[in-house]
Amino acid sequence: MFSLEGRKALVVGVANEHSIAWGCATALKAQGADLAITYLNAKAEPFVRPLAETAGAEIVLPLDVSRAGEMEAVFDAVRDRWGRLDILLHSIAFAPRQDLHGRVVDCSAEGFAQAMDISVHSFLRMIRLAEPLMTDGGTCLSVSFFGSERVVRHYNMMGPVKAALESVVRYAAAELGEKGITVHALSPGPLKTRAASGIDHFDELLDAASARAPTHHLATIEDVGAMAAFLASREARNQTGGIHAIDGGFSITA
Ligand code: NAD
Repeated sequence: MFSLEGRKALVVGVANEHSIAWGCATALKAQGADLAITYLNAKAEPFVRPLAETAGAEIVLPLDVSRAGEMEAVFDAVRDRWGRLDILLHSIAFAPRQDLHGRVVDCSAEGFAQAMDISVHSFLRMIRLAEPLMTDGGTCLSVSFFGSERVVRHYNMMGPVKAALESVVRYAAAELGEKGITVHALSPGPLKTRAASGIDHFDELLDAASARAPTHHLATIEDVGAMAAFLASREARNQTGGIHAIDGGFSITA
């Protein structure tokens, strides 16, 4: 129904073939987009580079958002190679283990600031660098979770962090709408990924999700990718600022 033929997409957050970002990269590619893919550091590169090559990525570069200059270098490469950008996917999050596993009430100022910087403010920095390259409009996507809205056991400090991310989505959408730049959060139910393994008792979350969701199916990275690809299409250009649940209906149940 829709095509992303010739659209230029920067995908940040692929760690391995289970990553939500990888599900999105393959869906964007399948609809015709050209890809730039980043990896965290030299340790991650051997896992990510072969995937990027499979997807025919035209730009493959390191990006640790907490390292000065790396984000600018990625956007410089995008500008030099493509002269523009149409799609930005920010699919990253981080919280220090000790803070993540404790009560929200007890989390340290340093840990909270680091989690907010890597998981939220980095999205704003990316949008700011993408804006001048999105000359024909564009789509900026991040990835959130229902723990932003309701207290989900063991999700702990990532709840307030994702709440901030979702608010950033709304403000950025309001500020950039007149330029034809749309901003969204994808909000999948729990999925087995590396990041998820950092959450205590994650299996309980998976069991609860499939038991309570009306469809009784867990979200897959393909489900998330399909939504990302649609939101990135011209057909979705009048939708912005939304938090899109991809959770088998879990979030509508009491
Ligand atoms: P993942 O481990 O595959 O991806 C997390 C990514 O974050 C990795 O690629 C990692 O390199 C990157 N990252 C961490 N710190 C970084 C930094 N300083 N600079 C650059 N990149 C950094 O796990 P995932 O589940 O695919 O996570 C992607 C996003 O989806 C996260 O925002 C996560 O909170 C969100 N999410 C996950 C689930 C789930 O159940 N897995 C559900 C809802 C939302």
